[in-house]
Amino acid sequence: MSLDKTWYTEEWAGQGSAISLKIKDKVHDEQSPYQRIEIYETETFGTLMTLDGLVMVTDRDNFMYHEMMSHPALFTHPDPKRVLVIGGGDCGTLHEVLKHPSVELAEQVELDERVTRVAEKFFPELCESNNDSRARLHFADGIKWVADAKPGSYDVIIVDSTDPVGPAAGLFSETFYKNCLKALRPNGVVVGQSESPLFHADLIRSVQKSFKAAGFRDVATLFFPQCTYPSGWWSATMACKQGSVAQFRAQDSAAKGFATRYYNHEIHAAALARPEFLR
Ligand code: SAM
Repeated sequence: MSLDKTWYTEEWAGQGSAISLKIKDKVHDEQSPYQRIEIYETETFGTLMTLDGLVMVTDRDNFMYHEMMSHPALFTHPDPKRVLVIGGGDCGTLHEVLKHPSVELAEQVELDERVTRVAEKFFPELCESNNDSRARLHFADGIKWVADAKPGSYDVIIVDSTDPVGPAAGLFSETFYKNCLKALRPNGVVVGQSESPLFHADLIRSVQKSFKAAGFRDVATLFFPQCTYPSGWWSATMACKQGSVAQFRAQDSAAKGFATRYYNHEIHAAALARPEFLR
């Protein structure tokens, strides 16, 4: 429901709240085999992509999400070479992953090819690394991809998915995490977007429990702002096959040698601090 035709409004289901962005124009609208993909030009947040009426990406604030989905996991692994991104069709996470010179292969497995094709047109800066010789784009179900992966295929798995409904629901399950554990090499790290700490604390607790039950040795949730997602506050939950999630390559992170706009080694450490209500 919109306040009027010049506003895009997303009501946050069951939360009695919403976000509104003033729009200049709607520039794309299609129904893919999986979801409705819409693109708007907003007055102050640049281009906006929604899937089934839910905000996925805006030009203005996507850097916080994409940097926090990638760099903490990559600086937690001692030497990440082979990275798998599940979902992530806008390619922003892939772009961040490929900033790490140690990465030799970054595979992205997105269910809906149309999301990527639309992102290439309307978010070219997020797709800048799609032609990197280390990047491989696959269009398939990430749940099946991981179930079928050879044991020890990846160093880092990043689950950049939509909300835990429909085809993404299985990406939040213990069975999927068990398959991630198998697909990871011994020092492997997995991270998945885990929704709003304020609105979805039960989901975060359940994701943490499922990672542990699947056999991951250590689990922690990272917290960061994301003003266009429900509540404006977001999380990613990370798990290590061996070692500790709190131990990351802080010196390498401090001397990272590539540009970020939100992530740095101090943000990394601070993002792991747990609010009292989530202890
Ligand atoms: N940043 C976003 C957020 O947290 O709201 C997520 C962005 S990304 C566009 C999410 C992608 O996950 C979508 O393009 C969707 O098609 C994809 N996806 C959902 N379920 C999937 C599955 N089982 N396998 C692969 N990709 C999936």
